[in-house]
Order: sequence, then C-alpha cells, then structure tokens
Amino acid sequence: MVLAVLVLVASIFTASAPIRALPATSPVAETPSAGCPNIRVLLEQGTHQHRITCDAGRFQVRWGDDVATVHSPLAVVAAKGSLRVGDRVFTESVKIRAVSGDMQIGERHHEGWVEWTPEADAGGWQMIEQIPLERYLLGVVSREMSASSFPAAALEAQAIAARTYANFQIQARGPGRRYHLRGDPRSQAYGGTARIPQAIKDAVQGTRGVHLLTAGRIFESFYHSTCGGQTCSAAQGFGIAGIPTMPSVECDGCVGSRFFRWRQPVPEMQLRHALEDVCAGSGIQLGRVSAVTPIETTASGHVPYLRIDHGGGSFEIDTSRLRSALGKRGNRGLRSASFTVRRTSEGYLFEGRGWGHGIGMCQVGAQGYARRGANRIWILEHYYPGAKAVRLW
Ligand SMILES: [Zn+2]
Repeated sequence: MVLAVLVLVASIFTASAPIRALPATSPVAETPSAGCPNIRVLLEQGTHQHRITCDAGRFQVRWGDDVATVHSPLAVVAAKGSLRVGDRVFTESVKIRAVSGDMQIGERHHEGWVEWTPEADAGGWQMIEQIPLERYLLGVVSREMSASSFPAAALEAQAIAARTYANFQIQARGPGRRYHLRGDPRSQAYGGTARIPQAIKDAVQGTRGVHLLTAGRIFESFYHSTCGGQTCSAAQGFGIAGIPTMPSVECDGCVGSRFFRWRQPVPEMQLRHALEDVCAGSGIQLGRVSAVTPIETTASGHVPYLRIDHGGGSFEIDTSRLRSALGKRGNRGLRSASFTVRRTSEGYLFEGRGWGHGIGMCQVGAQGYARRGANRIWILEHYYPGAKAVRLW
C-alpha cells in the first residue's frame, strides 16, 4: 500500500467522516488449526491483451468441462463480450496454466491457474489468480519492501501485517466473491512469485501463519510508506470504528526519509483540471477557484476534507479524491493528506509530511527501528498497540 488510494470514497458534499462498521470476522483459536487458505487476486479488469509464455512450452486451457493443450506463446485478447485465446473465441470463463512450472504474463510469473471471467456488464474481463496465501505473500513483501535495504525484522513485520490484511479480506468478503483483493497498491502491491530474494523467503517462511489479533480476531492491518513523524488513527483517517489497535502513534524511525517533509506546488490550472475531474457528474459548475481550506486537521496533522471556494459558491471534498485527481493530471500529487496549504502567485503550495494514508505501520519507520536493533514484535507493537502476534497455521 505504498501508494495506497483510500478505500473510503465519500460524497464530495460530505463534511464529516462517515463511520464504517467493521466487517465481522470469526474469532480464531489461538492454537494452530486450519491450513493456509487460497486467496483470489484481481490482476486486471476491463479490456486488455497479453502474450503469455512458459518454459514448459505448453499450456492447459480449461473452459466448462473441456480442457485443451496449446503451445507457448499464447495470445489472449480480452475484449467487450468476448475473450480470444489463440485462435479460439470464448464468451464464458476460461482458465489457463502452464503444464508444469510457472507462466509469464507481462512481468509477472504465475504458478497456478489464472482465470478470465466476464464482467457483469459485459464491459470486459476480470483476470484473477488463485494462489495459496503464503505463496502470494512472497510476491507482496518483495514489492512492498526492498530486500537489500530493509533489515530482516522489518521484512518479518511486513510479512505479518500483509498476511493479516490479506486474510482479513478473505474472511470479510467470504468464499462467494470472485476475488478478495487487488494485486496492486490499492490493496497490496504484488509482483508474482518468481525471482524472490532469499531474505524475503526467510521473512515469509519464518513467520508462516503468524497474524495480528485484537480481541481474538484478525483485523484490517493497514500500513503505509512514511508517516512523517506521527501516524494517523484509523478512526480519523478512514472513519473506521472499532479498531483500537490503529491509533495515532509517534514515529521517529522515518526521520531520514526524503518524504519526511515535502513541498508540492500546484499551479492554478492543474488544480482546476483536477477539481473538474472530481466534480464531473456532480452538477457543480466550477467557477474561478479562490481558496482551498482544510475543514479540520486531526491531532496527527491529517486533513480528511477540504473546502473549495470558487466563483459559483463553495463545496467540500474528500482529500483523497483531490490527491488521486492530481496524480492523474501528471502532478506527483500530494504524497499524503498531512499538509498545510497556502495561496501563491502561481497557484497553491502544499507543505506536508509522509507518503501514503498514514494509518498503521510506517514501513520506512519499521526500517529505521530495525536498523536500531528493534525486532519484529517491537515494531508491530509500536504501530499496532494492543495487537497480539499469533500463529494460526
Ligand atoms: Zn514514520
């Protein structure tokens, strides 16, 4: 979740953070019990095309009760209403895997079945990999942290936080869902399971089955790149009630990060175009923007909502939506929602700290504390106070 986009999408007219109920998960026994579950990862959606290869030279293609063997490379074109695999066209779900070993799709290697399923509105296809959770974690930790610059304790803390987050999605979404999470930073970064550095394997395998629990349940253990000195509470940042394990905590582990403090000028026209994107379909006729004002600032310095004054009046927006819109407009965006903003002769100057949503573990902070000798339990207890690390399989 280095570049995590906030999961909470509020109305642009919303003035205060809505409280989202915590999805129920079953209490778990604190002794090893059920084995490692499979997780279903959404790799792509809509229309797309790939040239798939594998060292084995042949693929199995399965649809309905039929199976065919085809040669590598294989062209897959997901269009509106149809899926072409080689020279055959499908309108129903199709699964593909290498007859042995793994297959390469783009830059990722996949070791099991990858399934293409038509989207409900026939607008395209969802491309989903099903994989054992522990295998999936290799591809997460290797993308979320660098094996060459993060000490073992930080990698281990990351493995436990990522495992807890992923298993929470499995439990909260249930077995009937097509996928549990996305294979990108909107959920967790994921790069497939090939070429995994030994330090990452050690961190995942050495913590196999270990989860964070609060009151006997796993929880949605968020994490982010850099907090900038103080993390944001889940209640204030995401409006999530009932997770006492993610309060705002101080952090000086990330003080060496170049994102500990940042300055981001936003030219007037760039802000205007971003706001036009945010307002699209809302009926707001955007006049000349005259002020951008934080509606409130949390104790940790985060700004969940902004008020925009313009020639046609004023409205309020979720800061995460402005961050996302600026990013799409080519601006490096606001790296976090922890900032102050002031008018300049050319537009607006945002001065902030940290990178990411700021909730839960600070990854660069974990790196800093690990370099000072902290172990994984110390790191996790610092960012998730009250949570308990328990091995579940
Ligand atoms: Zn930090």
